[in-house]
Order: sequence, then structure tokens, then C-alpha cells
Amino acid sequence: MKVSWKTVLLWSLPFLVIGFFLWQSFLTPSNNDLNNNVASSRMTYGRFLEYLDMGWVKRVDLYDNGHTAIVEALGPELGNRVQKIRVELPPNAPELITKLRKAQIDIDAHPIKDNNAIWNLLGNVFFPIVFLGGLVLLFRRSGNASGGPGQAMSFGKSKALFQMEAKTGIVFNDVAGVDEAKEEFEEVVTFLKQPDSFTAVGAKIPKGVLLVGPPGTGKTLLAKAIAGEASVPFFSISGSEFVEMFVGVGASRVRDLFKKAKENAPCIVFIDEIDAVGRQRGTGVGGGNDEREQTLNQLLTEMDGFEGNTGVIVIAATNRADILDSALLRPGRFDRQVSVDVPDLNGRLAILKVHTKNKKMASNVSIKTIARRTPGFSGADLANLLNEAAILTVRRQKDAISINEVDASIDRVVAGMEGTPLTNSKSKRLIAYHEVGHAIVGTLLEDHDEVQKVTLIPRGQAKGLTWFIPGDDQSLVSRAQIKARIMGALGGRAAEEVVFGSTEVTTGASNDLQQVTSMARQMVTRFGMSSIGPLSLESEDSNPFLGRGMNSSSEYSDEVAIKIDRQVYQIVSECHEKVLRIIEDNRVVIDRLVDLLIEEETIDGEVLAQIISEYTSIPQKQAYIKLI
Ligand code: ADP
Ligand code: MG
Ligand code: ZN
Repeated sequence: MKVSWKTVLLWSLPFLVIGFFLWQSFLTPSNNDLNNNVASSRMTYGRFLEYLDMGWVKRVDLYDNGHTAIVEALGPELGNRVQKIRVELPPNAPELITKLRKAQIDIDAHPIKDNNAIWNLLGNVFFPIVFLGGLVLLFRRSGNASGGPGQAMSFGKSKALFQMEAKTGIVFNDVAGVDEAKEEFEEVVTFLKQPDSFTAVGAKIPKGVLLVGPPGTGKTLLAKAIAGEASVPFFSISGSEFVEMFVGVGASRVRDLFKKAKENAPCIVFIDEIDAVGRQRGTGVGGGNDEREQTLNQLLTEMDGFEGNTGVIVIAATNRADILDSALLRPGRFDRQVSVDVPDLNGRLAILKVHTKNKKMASNVSIKTIARRTPGFSGADLANLLNEAAILTVRRQKDAISINEVDASIDRVVAGMEGTPLTNSKSKRLIAYHEVGHAIVGTLLEDHDEVQKVTLIPRGQAKGLTWFIPGDDQSLVSRAQIKARIMGALGGRAAEEVVFGSTEVTTGASNDLQQVTSMARQMVTRFGMSSIGPLSLESEDSNPFLGRGMNSSSEYSDEVAIKIDRQVYQIVSECHEKVLRIIEDNRVVIDRLVDLLIEEETIDGEVLAQIISEYTSIPQKQAYIKLI
């Protein structure tokens, strides 16, 4: 780079200016007296005149154009020590000087020194110079043929926002419950280890693999495991990291990332949250996003640019493949999609096994029970759950994690923090009836999940809770099961009605009723489980640019809408009738259970079933049988 004399001059000027002023201020050190040297005490002008008359004043220093005086005085009031006192002088006090001279007091005047001068000058001269200098530099850069326009704004240049791990230390055995995905990836590992065996037969190596699945299901973990198994470096960056305020930064980051990756091939490049850059171009509320599109284009270019056998494999993760730009999914880019789902019962079992390996578990802990109690938990949820249980164990000063700690942690994760129980009162009784209502309906319906426990200890928003052990296959639910769930959810309100009368029912059931309505509505509009017939009238949210559940586009006529409402109403009222009957028929055991619940605050599922079975027969649980 050639340095012109102009640049040198421009850049040295500010330093010269600063130097000059610093030097100036050192030349006149006494000027600082007014601010630094002055005693903390002050006195009024009148008092000063009195001091003068008493002959206590020894010396006067005038500052600030004669507006301020520092008076050195000595007197009994001052403890017979010479003290410096600050006095503000009135604007016109010419007679003062005469008086002072007459009293033969030492006077000295100091020139004004405006401390702000430096700052004023800095503001007026220094900053414009820096600014101009900066501009000159920018133009010089962009003038260079090598840079091109993209480099002009190089202040946004990427600062290596991707991470590089030489060894991830994670192997396939650390990832559980996602066997299909693992199989798919074993092939990738083979390629990374022995690329020649593939190229020998003319097989093209996949460049990109897209991992699709909800958060916490182990996508990042899988990608790391591939790198770990093949013992190649792991580069990772998050899609959101690409999208910056300045146009062009994202693209330059992509360039940097791939440059580094190629230097370190064979390796894995992991792009997390690729939907942040990779969503369909030219769409979106409020027009497209230039920066994002540029970044995406750069990514596509890079992926096309490197040949299949350079040994760089790009793995991207997203939880929404449906909104990705179709160009990304074309062959030669992310041509393989691997979905990683929330684990089922066996998956949870496997994941729990992995995560209990390095924890001290008491012998009464059955991993199977934990797995059964945690439907819908992702791998990350399970890992977190066990960690919570471990922390709780330490807090309880035990030396191994027992089922109590695990249970408490599950309750907390699912329903929130434990609150303090209500004191004995009418509302406690009402809540007890409400919960026992859920429990008895749940117990007596063949298709309902088994009751795990009933409790009056509040958690989160709930004042009391009835826990169920969910059946295994939550993805395939029969009509009878949904109906049973609707009835179970209605059990609380129904018990309130029967016991306290319809005028005394409370708002406590509002959440139950929401669930009831939504389940009944889905039976009609999504699952074809009503007399309207097997029609899908509403679909789950499909518009990626509105949040989930905001889909209100109806795919039916007004006439059908009325039919739907009628069907929903019919389902719910039918269930309600049945539930009322169950409550009325079992009033005796309900009263007994409520008394017990108020006394003990929690009733275990087994105790509950035992007591109920003394009064009536409990059907074999369908959902439960499947499990064993
Ligand atoms: P994602 O990237 O899908 O959001 P992660 O891979 O970051 O999820 O998972 C977070 C953590 O959860 C992991 O570090 C691991 O401890 C745990 N985890 C998630 N899925 C699994 C799994 N399938 N097997 C074992 N552990 C898992
Ligand atoms: Mg992740
Ligand atoms: Zn309820």
C-alpha cells in the first residue's frame, strides 16, 4: 500500500493539535488552583469583609476575572490555623482592592483559564479531521481495483463468528432414540473416512444434509457426532449470525466460513437455524430482505462452487423445512433431508439411559417409569429433567437420585413451581371435589389414561392437579380415547355442579373447558369423527409467515360452519351428561376421597384405585395394556 504525504499529514494533524493544548495547559499549572487547590470551605462576601475588619485575612488570590477569591485567613474561629476559604465576589467591588491594599494584604490575580477550551477545540477541529481522514481512507480503499464496491464498507467485515472445534468428542453412542437419522449419517461418516471407495465407483458424495426437527431433539448433537465419529473438524455457525444490519456482511461471512472449511477439509460445516437465512426468497410481510437474500445467494454459490469430493459436508438444521427456499433443497445442495422427531417411549428410554449413565441413581428408580411419565419431552428436556433431579438431590442432601426427586422435577417441568397449599376453607373443599371429579372419571373410563396422583398442592396457575400416566402412542389416538379425555376434563366442573349446585360453580374450570372445546372441535373439523363425515375442514397452521395457530382461513361454507358448531355442541353436551351421571352414581366414594385429599393433600394413584375398587369395579385400561 502506497502511503501518500496527504494521508500522513491528515492523520498527524489531530495529534499535533492535542499535543499543543496539553503543552499549553502544562505551562500554566497555577490555573488549576481554583478547581484543585481550593479548600472545601466557603464563606459569604459579608463574612469576608468582617474577617477583613478583624484583621484575620492574610492573603487574597483573585480568579475568574475577579469573581472568585481564595482567601487565606487565620483566626480563632478557624482554630488558629491558616485556612483557605473560597469567596464569591460581587461583580463590582472596586473598593475592595483599595481596602485590601490599605490593610496591606497580599493580593494576586490569576488569568482566566477556560478548561472547556480544549473540548471546544476538540469538537470543532479534531472530530471533523478524524471524520475527513476516515472518508479519505474509505475512498482510497474503494478506489483500489482489488477491493471492489463490497469492500468499501469493510468496517462490517466478519470477525470469524463461526466456531471451529478440532475434535467434538461426541460419538453416535451419545445420541439416542433417533435411529433412522443415525443410520443415514453412518454413511456420511464412511464417506468422510474413505472417500475413495465412493469416488472409485463414480458415486457422488452428498454435499449437504438438512436436519429437520423441533428444538432440543438432538440435531446439533448429531452433527457433532458425525464429526466426532469421522474425527474431522467441526465448523458451526447459526443462521441468525449471518443476518446483520449491514448489507453484505452475511455474504462475506459465508465466504469466510467456506474458505476456512476448504482449508481444513475434510470437515463438517454446521449451519444451525438455517431458516433465518434460507426462507423462501421474495416473500415475507413487508417485502423481501435484501441482506438475507444476498446471504442466501452467497450460500448457494458456495455450495455449487465446491466439488463433491473436496470433503466438505454441510449439515444444516431447522425446525421448519416447509419455509425454506426451494433452491436450497435442489439436488446438489441440501439434497438429503433427515427428520429428527420428538422421541417416542422407546426413544425416551434410550435417551434416559444415555443421560443416567454418568449420574448416581438410587436403585428404586425405574427408567421405564420416567419414560412413561414424559410424553412429548425432547432429548434436551429429558437431559434437563435429570439435571434438575440431581440438583434437587443435592439440595435434599441425599447421595443418589431417587424416584421422588425425578417425580418432583417432572411435576415442576410440566406444571410449574409448587405453591403453598390453601388453608382449610370452602374453596379448598371445592377444589378437592373438582380434582376428585377428574380423578374418578379418569379412573372409571376404560379409554382414559390411568391416574397417577391427585394433589391439592398448587403448581403454576393450577390450584390443584390430577396427574395421569399417558398411554404410549400419543400420535395415534382413537375416537373413544378423545371422548374419554373430553369427559375426564369435564369431570372437575361436573363435580362442582353436582356437589355445590350450578350457582356455585367457579372459574377454576376455564382451562378444562378450553381443552374440551378444542378437542371436540378438532374431532369434527380435522379428524372426521362426527356425523359430518370424514372431512378435513381445517388444517393446522400452514402459513409460515403468521404465527402458529393464527390460521383462520376456513375451507367451508357458512352452512357447514353452522353444522360444525352444532356437532361440537352435541359432542360436548353428550359427554357432559355422561360425566354428571358418573359423579352422581359415585357420590359416596367421592365424599370419602375428598375428605382424605383434604387431610393428606396428595393421594397416590394406587391408593385411589384401591379405595374406588371398594365401591365399584374399575375397568381394565386399554391404553395401559398396550404399554406392557
Ligand atoms: P437441537 O440442536 O435439536 O435443538 P441439541 O442437539 O442442541 O438439540 O440438544 C441439546 C441437548 O439435549 C444435547 O446436548 C443433549 O444433552 C440432549 N439431547 C437432545 N437430543 C438427544 C438425543 N437424541 N440423545 C441424547 N441426548 C440428547
Ligand atoms: Mg441446536
Ligand atoms: Zn380441572
